[in-house]
Amino acid sequence: MLSPLQTSFTKVLSLTSDEALKRRFMVLDVPIQANMRFGLLLEVLDKVAEEAALNYVNQFFPDARVVTAAIDNIIIRHVTDMSRDVHFKARINHVGRSSLEIGIRVEQPGVPVRHIASCYFTMVARSGMGEGAVSVALPGLDYGEDIEQQRADKALQRRKEYKQQQARLNEPPSREEFQMLTDLHAAQDDPGFKGLLAGKLTADAWERMYPEQENVPKKIFGGYLIRRAYELSSICSEQIAPNRPIAAAVNRINFFHPVRMGDTLHYTTRVVYTKGSFICVEANIERISRDKTTKALSNSCLFTFVNVDDDLQQQPVPQVYPTNYGEDARYLMAHRSSQTLIAEGANDLS
Ligand code: GDP
Repeated sequence: MLSPLQTSFTKVLSLTSDEALKRRFMVLDVPIQANMRFGLLLEVLDKVAEEAALNYVNQFFPDARVVTAAIDNIIIRHVTDMSRDVHFKARINHVGRSSLEIGIRVEQPGVPVRHIASCYFTMVARSGMGEGAVSVALPGLDYGEDIEQQRADKALQRRKEYKQQQARLNEPPSREEFQMLTDLHAAQDDPGFKGLLAGKLTADAWERMYPEQENVPKKIFGGYLIRRAYELSSICSEQIAPNRPIAAAVNRINFFHPVRMGDTLHYTTRVVYTKGSFICVEANIERISRDKTTKALSNSCLFTFVNVDDDLQQQPVPQVYPTNYGEDARYLMAHRSSQTLIAEGANDLS
C-alpha cells in the first residue's frame, strides 16, 4: 500500500524565469497589486488535481481516467506576488471506493513563504466511455504518519460537513433571516428607493465546445469551464463594485453533468449577495446537447469577491436588493454560506 507522501506531486509556475508564462497570467501589463488571473489559477489547480489523481489511479487501472466531482471552499489568504514563482503541492489525502480527495497547497517560495491558498478537490475514477462508463474500485492508502491520518480524517469531515451544510441551506429562514429579507423588501416599497436590484446585476454568455477543449475523450476540461465561469462572474461583480473586485473565496463548485464536444453552453452569473466589502456571485453553466435533446445544469459555482482600492484596502460595496422569491432564496443561501468564509477571509490580502 502506498502512503499519501508517496502520492506527492508538485507543479511549478516559473513566473520569475518564463516571461511569456508570466504575461499569460497577468491581469494587466502594468505593475498593479493582485495582478494574477485567478480564473487561470483555478484552471491550473484543476489540472494539477487531475494529474495527482491520475498518477495514482493509473498504477492500478492504466485506462481509467478521473473527473472532478467537486471543489471544496477555497479561502484566498494572500494575493499572488508576480515577482515570485508559484508552487502547487498536491497529495492524495484520502481514497474512498472510487473517489479521491486531493489536497493542494499553493504557495510562493521566499522568506517568509507566502501561503496563497489550500484547496481540496474530490475526484472520481472512471473507466469506459460514454454511457458504458463505470466507476472503478480503488485500493486504499496507508495513512501511517500522524499528519496523514489527520488529513484523511479531515477529508471525511469535509464531506460530512458539506452534506450537513446542504441540509441547512434548504431550511426555511430563521426569525432573524426572515426579518433581514423583510427589511430588504420594505426598503423597495419606499417611493424614493434608489437601491440596486439583484435582478439587474447579471451577465450571461454563450459558447460552443470544440474538440480543442477536449480533455478526457468526448468530455470537456472542467478547469476551462470554471475559469470561464469565474471570468464572467468577475465582470458581473464589476457592475456593483465601486472599486476593484478581486477573488476572496470560492464557496464551492459542483460538477453535475459532464460537458461534451458539440454542446452549447449557457453561462449565467448574478450578484446574489453583498456584505461590507464582499460580493457573492453565483455562476451556473447549462449544457445543451448537440441534438438539443438534453438540457442540464452542468456546473454551479459561488464566488466571493472583495472590493479593494489600489493599495488592496477593503472598500464598502452597496447593498443589493432581492425582489422575487428566487432572488430571496439565493440571497439567503449566499448569506448562510459566506458567514464563515467572510469572517476567515477578512484578513489583509497584501
Ligand atoms: P492541511 O490540509 O490542513 O494540512 O493544510 P495545508 O495548507 O498544510 O495543505 C493543504 C494540502 O496540500 C494538504 O492537505 C496536502 O494534501 C497538500 N500538501 C501540503 N503540504 C504538502 C507538501 O509538502 N507536498 C505535497 N506534495 N503536498 C502537500
